[in-house]
Amino acid sequence: MSVPRLTAIKEEAFVFYSNGNYEAFVRPRKPQGVDEKSAYLVGGGIASLAAAGFLIRDGQMDGNRITIYEGSNICGGCLDGIKDPNEGYLFRGEREMEDHYECLWDLMRSIPSLDVKDASVLEDFYRLNKDQPNYSKCRTTHNRGQAFPTDGKMLLTSKAQGELMKLFFTHRRELFDRKFEEFVGEEFFASNFWVYWLSMFAIGPWHGALEMKLYMNRFVQHFGGFADLSTIKFTRLNQYDSLILPLVKWLEEQGVTIVYDTRVTNVVFDITPERKVARRIEWLQGGERGGLDVTEDDFVLITNGSPVENTAWGDHHTPAKWIRDIQEGSIWHLWRNIAAQDPAFGRPDKFCAHTDGSSYESACIRTLDDKIPPYIERIVQRDPMKFDSSPITGGLCTVRDSNWLLSWNVERNPHFRDAPEDQLMIHAYGTYSLDRPGNYVKKALRECTGEEIAQEWLYHLGVPDDQIDQLAAESVVVHPCMMPYITAFFLPRRDGDRPQVVPEGAVNFGFLGQFAESSPRDVIFTVEYSVRTAMEAVYTLLDIERGVPEPWGSQYDVRAMLNSAAVLKDYEKLKLPAPIDALIRHLSGGQELEKTEFGELLRDYGWIGELGDDELTVAIHKNPPRVTYTVL
Ligand SMILES: Cc1cc2nc3c(=O)[nH]c(=O)nc-3n(C[C@H](O)[C@H](O)[C@H](O)COP(=O)(O)OP(=O)(O)OC[C@H]3O[C@@H](n4cnc5c(N)ncnc54)[C@H](O)[C@@H]3O)c2cc1C
Repeated sequence: MSVPRLTAIKEEAFVFYSNGNYEAFVRPRKPQGVDEKSAYLVGGGIASLAAAGFLIRDGQMDGNRITIYEGSNICGGCLDGIKDPNEGYLFRGEREMEDHYECLWDLMRSIPSLDVKDASVLEDFYRLNKDQPNYSKCRTTHNRGQAFPTDGKMLLTSKAQGELMKLFFTHRRELFDRKFEEFVGEEFFASNFWVYWLSMFAIGPWHGALEMKLYMNRFVQHFGGFADLSTIKFTRLNQYDSLILPLVKWLEEQGVTIVYDTRVTNVVFDITPERKVARRIEWLQGGERGGLDVTEDDFVLITNGSPVENTAWGDHHTPAKWIRDIQEGSIWHLWRNIAAQDPAFGRPDKFCAHTDGSSYESACIRTLDDKIPPYIERIVQRDPMKFDSSPITGGLCTVRDSNWLLSWNVERNPHFRDAPEDQLMIHAYGTYSLDRPGNYVKKALRECTGEEIAQEWLYHLGVPDDQIDQLAAESVVVHPCMMPYITAFFLPRRDGDRPQVVPEGAVNFGFLGQFAESSPRDVIFTVEYSVRTAMEAVYTLLDIERGVPEPWGSQYDVRAMLNSAAVLKDYEKLKLPAPIDALIRHLSGGQELEKTEFGELLRDYGWIGELGDDELTVAIHKNPPRVTYTVL
């Protein structure tokens, strides 16, 4: 059986996708000529770090031949988490993750954990999530800290279900440059499904219908976990400490050089109709211009956009700035310079020129004493002060009647290696951060100081009015964090807006990260997508004889499809019209549907009878939920 050829860049080199174990365990032979090649990676986020990892592990490139240029003084990009000497612990957000981050886990199985002896990063993550599985006991609240009465149900009307299904099956080409709100109506936006979706994925009505569709296809296996978040997983600590630090340490041990405070301003190409060759990297380093000429034996891998560009922090007494100008040295400026050289290099302004649709603000909250935790405990129904890495909120808790649509989650504790035992680390964000006044603080989230954000949050926790201001002033410290491009990749787009990971004719370069076009089935705003682009770029350029794991076939898995449809209908049982019932009996030789294999499938995934007891079943509402070890 031949393997489908997906991307051809030169005579023999192409990337192909695989699944299953056959390819997963094959160690690729050393690519020809790799000892004469070097690699220069632009940006020090997970995309570049992963690319360096794949170059070394699978491409067998000597780490001494790899250089990463990072614009700031630390690697990790989006995957942050730092103890600032003046401000304390800071992190922009939290990463929901899952089993089917195929490329990320493929890499992390080879990186030693810094927290568990003799375990890889993957094994640490796996064991933690097995011992302390994530799930929420209260996904949404209203009326100042009361559980929302229909929490757990999707409440999608037949019309809204139909609209979703239509989008699910619509071809991606039909969705180019169209907004999600064109495809659904008021009934859909009134559903619980929408609140769960919006807060979990941050795809707003104004974002691309294409992205909404791709997300539904890719994450259909999570529908059963939307109401209790039992199908998602979290790292032990913040993502800098749990993912980036071990990877950086391992890369440095292999000899990789990381050059910090170097903002790449352009990559210069020689372009003919047949070939595109990167010739020079230019940068700004401490205000000085510099650069490096590269040859066809040098790979240049460029992260050409970032959701956290122009991130601005405020503090407890100062709002965060909303910085929307793009200066030389910005990653968007770099991409603009590159895009100006060839139409195949994409259209950056589709993503970076519409900050009204791509900005939101988060807040990093830290409690300072024992006055706020009881309010948290009442909602989350767990002791928040446990210091054993167990879930507390178990993911986001969303305040349904908040004007900002405020969501917050208490992180696994400790969230930093040296975190104090008596403080809680909380991440909050407002879907509507830009213009809607809060319910308690009559200002837009982005105009608020940390203290004002604390007041609004405490109001929604149910803290009595006469205590809100004092607790916000004394019992908590809040740092607002404005991210003008955080959802830039969700803006309506079409093919060609993002360059291919390895564009046609590219000889020695590729694009990495959220703004490079990979397999059309995988989705952005994920760590996985960035690592996928890294794997694809490295495997293509070095012609590595191993498949890149394809995105898991969620939309093709009948179990996931059956269960997600049952979830959307709130487990309303199937009533077969008499002629269809008769037809099934006829086809199965007169047997009752429930006694057939098909009947068992329908039972196990929520369509008829009671849910099955089989081990292999998706997470369904049970408390504690039946978390899967899974086929899905
Ligand atoms: C708040 C938040 C929540 C998220 N939630 C989730 C989630 O729930 N699940 C999930 O899977 N993913 C989530 N993500 C997304 C995920 O973290 C990112 O998609 C991924 O980490 C992006 O990695 P990257 O390397 O492609 O880009 P980035 O991390 O953006 O890295 C780009 C790097 O380039 C550097 N740089 C910028 N300009 C230059 C220049 N001119 N020269 C050199 N270097 C430059 C930057 O400093 C940065 O280090 C979230 C991200 C954020 C910020």
